[in-house]
Amino acid sequence: MVANNIGPQIEQEKATVRAMIYLYCHKNHHPFNNQLCDECSDLLQYAMQRLTMCRFGEEKTTCERCPKHCYRKDYKQQIKQVMRFSGPRMIIYHPVMVLKHIYKNIIRK
Ligand SMILES: [Zn+2]
Repeated sequence: MVANNIGPQIEQEKATVRAMIYLYCHKNHHPFNNQLCDECSDLLQYAMQRLTMCRFGEEKTTCERCPKHCYRKDYKQQIKQVMRFSGPRMIIYHPVMVLKHIYKNIIRK
């Protein structure tokens, strides 16, 4: 499997993670101008890089079902916090994204 075959699946994952980090940062860190604070933009960059490098590419399921946890320890803690906060709120702010995500988690193997 080639690492850098980026297609719609990876793009969708990226969009979801990006939305979750933005939501988390805006509600918790209140950055200026709807940008991200330094910490969160760092995390976002890291998350995007992980997805770009994802060894499963378009074969990928969602990250929580992935057999290979590829995050570095400190970033993993951060993203866990983000998921815990933004996860339940995504259904309000980004319902379509959530449906796609659930679809992938449950139906697509
Ligand atoms: Zn932040």
